[in-house]
Amino acid sequence: MLTTKPKGTQDIYGADSYHWHWMEKKIREIAEFYGATEIRTPTFEHTELFAKNVGETTDIVNKEMYTFLDRGGRSLTLRPEGTAGAIRCFVEEKLYAGTLPLKLYYMMSNFRGEKPQKGRFREHRQFGVEFIGPAEAENDVEVIAIAKDVLEAIGAKATLNINSIGEADAREKYHNVLKEYIGDNLESMCADCKSRIDRNPLRALDCKVPNCKEIMDGAPSIQDSLNEADKDHFERVLKLLDALSIKYVVNPRIVRGLDYYTRTVFEFIDDGALGAQSTVCGGGRYDNMVEQTGGPKMGCVGFGMGMERLLMSAKANGKVSDLAPRRQIFIGYIGEAGRVLSQKIVYELRQKGVHADGDTMGRGVKAQLKYADKINAKYSLVLGDDEIEKGAAQIKDMDTGDKYDVDINELEEFCKKSKAD
Ligand code: ATP
Ligand code: MG
Repeated sequence: MLTTKPKGTQDIYGADSYHWHWMEKKIREIAEFYGATEIRTPTFEHTELFAKNVGETTDIVNKEMYTFLDRGGRSLTLRPEGTAGAIRCFVEEKLYAGTLPLKLYYMMSNFRGEKPQKGRFREHRQFGVEFIGPAEAENDVEVIAIAKDVLEAIGAKATLNINSIGEADAREKYHNVLKEYIGDNLESMCADCKSRIDRNPLRALDCKVPNCKEIMDGAPSIQDSLNEADKDHFERVLKLLDALSIKYVVNPRIVRGLDYYTRTVFEFIDDGALGAQSTVCGGGRYDNMVEQTGGPKMGCVGFGMGMERLLMSAKANGKVSDLAPRRQIFIGYIGEAGRVLSQKIVYELRQKGVHADGDTMGRGVKAQLKYADKINAKYSLVLGDDEIEKGAAQIKDMDTGDKYDVDINELEEFCKKSKAD
């Protein structure tokens, strides 16, 4: 156990950590371009927040939450998603008294006790966006545009699938239609779907069991149960997407796995690289959550994007790049005086903004230069008694083999000038 990580978790290090930096930088740039600011909420919340807002009939609440009692006997849960915490903060801090819409984004770890497989983890990371306040379709489209821009910037290839599940009345109407349809096919469906039929038949549309999927492909569409206001909203979303030339497919099978959605729901489904776990982003509107959490009645729209899946898709499409800074200069040494001076110069160069490095393992000079090569330093030099006496050293360009004589006091200028060239 000491050397095994818990099932479904990951270590991110080395070159991969730079891939994550690259992805996170692009995400921040785009989110901030749309006027969103970052929110960081606690890693755990009171269990009832998720039970109520994510929904008692969802897989997340029923089967997947990491719930524990703290030392004071309170029930806490590691967050399985980001929306509930953001809305809790919005209500607790009375942010509705400020300027609306409040546009938030986050990148955070989420925890779900699922069966680990490719693209499915017990700790996964999500980039999420929430526009809180507005009920207008313009905001659904802005949020979708952020997701689309991020997917494009990262090089993922995914198709926007969009649907409307209406407000409570439309869903109630549709529940009855669906119950009847599922009732007719009940023997061939999985145990989960059988138990869901009364509590939340909508969930059967989300079932991943192949046989249930096939049966649900023939189910009546929720679109026929929408009221006029729901239909107007959905038509406006599509009209605005058309105006922005954002491509989509209307897919009445998209209902999303969480209880809090109203009206617009959408998923970006990867075009091939991800295999079975192909939904890279899921989101929609949840116009009841602020009120349900104790705030005023107001609209909200947002999404969660799986960052591991995003990176997998980018890698499959060959787009990933990294931001690893290159060591500009390696300061080697021979002898004790050189060893001390080397550490001093490296330290001073770093303070002046030069990526410098040296040997801290007491290596011989040959091994030092091998190390300089391994860490991909651009230049190297060696400080011996001679160099210290003259105050000058020969710098070697590790890429070309070119050599330059440089004053030891002018290393900063040399590095900065050659970097600019
Ligand atoms: P799925 O249908 O794949 O289980 P979901 O509907 O449960 O997804 P959401 O709760 O909407 O997913 O989360 C948003 C996004 O987060 C998903 O589209 C997916 O990209 C990612 N995601 C969700 N669960 C996991 C997980 N266990 N491991 C990795 N990524 C995940
Ligand atoms: Mg899930």
